[in-house]
Amino acid sequence: MIRKAQGFYETFDRKEPGTRATHYCPGCGHGIIHKLIGEAMAELGIQDRTVFVSPVGCAAFCFHYFDCGNVAGPHGRASAVATGVARALPGKVVISYQGDGDLGAIGFNNAFQAANRGEHFACFFVNNSIYAMTGGQMAPTTMLGQKTTTTPFGRDAVKEGYPLKVCEVLNQLDAPVFIERVSVSDTKHIMQAKKAVRKALEIQRDGKGYAFVEFLSPCPTNWRMDPVTSAQFVNEQMEKVFPLGNFRDRSAQPAPVAKPVPQLTVDELLGRGHEGGSAKPDLAFKERKFKFSGFGGQGVLSLGLVIAEAAGDSGRFVSWLPSYGPEQRGGYASCSVVVSGKEVGSPTVDAPDVLVAMSQQAAEKFAMTVPAGGVVIYEASLPEPGAREGVKVMAFPASRIAAESGTPKAANTALLGALTALDLHGLPEDKVLQALDASFAAKPALVERNRKVYRAAFDWAKNNL
Ligand code: SF4
Repeated sequence: MIRKAQGFYETFDRKEPGTRATHYCPGCGHGIIHKLIGEAMAELGIQDRTVFVSPVGCAAFCFHYFDCGNVAGPHGRASAVATGVARALPGKVVISYQGDGDLGAIGFNNAFQAANRGEHFACFFVNNSIYAMTGGQMAPTTMLGQKTTTTPFGRDAVKEGYPLKVCEVLNQLDAPVFIERVSVSDTKHIMQAKKAVRKALEIQRDGKGYAFVEFLSPCPTNWRMDPVTSAQFVNEQMEKVFPLGNFRDRSAQPAPVAKPVPQLTVDELLGRGHEGGSAKPDLAFKERKFKFSGFGGQGVLSLGLVIAEAAGDSGRFVSWLPSYGPEQRGGYASCSVVVSGKEVGSPTVDAPDVLVAMSQQAAEKFAMTVPAGGVVIYEASLPEPGAREGVKVMAFPASRIAAESGTPKAANTALLGALTALDLHGLPEDKVLQALDASFAAKPALVERNRKVYRAAFDWAKNNL
């Protein structure tokens, strides 16, 4: 009597209700590997806490077969999805099932990094040395001389490189607990493969860490062989290139324990020395959208951050969204700040109520985005930017005031003084100054100097704008 396979749904209803036939070709190794996994799940009693991540490839329909939790991963991303599942659901047994195109090519970095982090899942890697689902193209694991539809004269190391030996690569990493290469070519090999599958799942059951099992598996269809010849091909050709055996088994060692994460408040996390306030709805407060713009090194982002901090400390809802080029100095930089009496819907600011432009490029780029009723404040040494009708455009000598106050680099602080003097942010001055001081917490000598610039700019704006 043939024993019913364990770990599977009663019927596989993908195409026809009631059938128990899989979609695999005759002689394919996937069905055997599935059976080993299903049996091991059932025997270990972990079926109801197992999550199986299916790949893209011939095995894309695993979720029609395995009677456990199922997730379908995008192409090459099964290891990334398994990482997410394992981290979100500690205590579950997570399986990533991937072929050689999926894991060895598009998903190699995902799989490699997951192994290097020692993620808690079992990765079952099916190596049939070819892209199977897409019709037999060369895979990273295709052997030298092996003919595929894209290497019709055989893989040539000079043109196509060498077959990727994934077990050997992963064996260079510190984190994996278990690495083994097995074969499903015949009964003797299948018995050994079953032990490896079981061990990989025991490691998951016991929360020990990352386990990797590579299966040398026949693909009669794309190899253009009958099942018997395919099995011989695995034994006689593949095993020479991909030697079988256990590369590592550290399952007897205790699992490493992660360092506890300190429980910090947001202020402690951000290193802020002052109390952050909780935002409270205030529908009477007029929402203000700012764009602070210039180039890197002018303190554009810091200016926006001081306003954002002051707003947060004043109980306003606030967002701060920076945007800058790759250069640390001299490249384009801007930030969008929204200060509101209600939750901020989007941190992006396409039509600012207030534009602060510290460079000509920034003024030219953003001035026309300010709608009627808005304000443009630009550095007075620059040409006046064009603006829409109904927009108030003000030249403000931020650089000159900062220089005359003894801190030429503090033009951004001068602009902060002007914004307060003109009441463009609607925030209490004591909160603004508190945030300004806090921004120099690491350089206390600059606190008083910036206060001096701020005060001079405030007075100038009051008297001249
Ligand atoms: S194409 Fe190859 S790997 Fe895919 S189901 Fe058929 S035999 Fe299996």
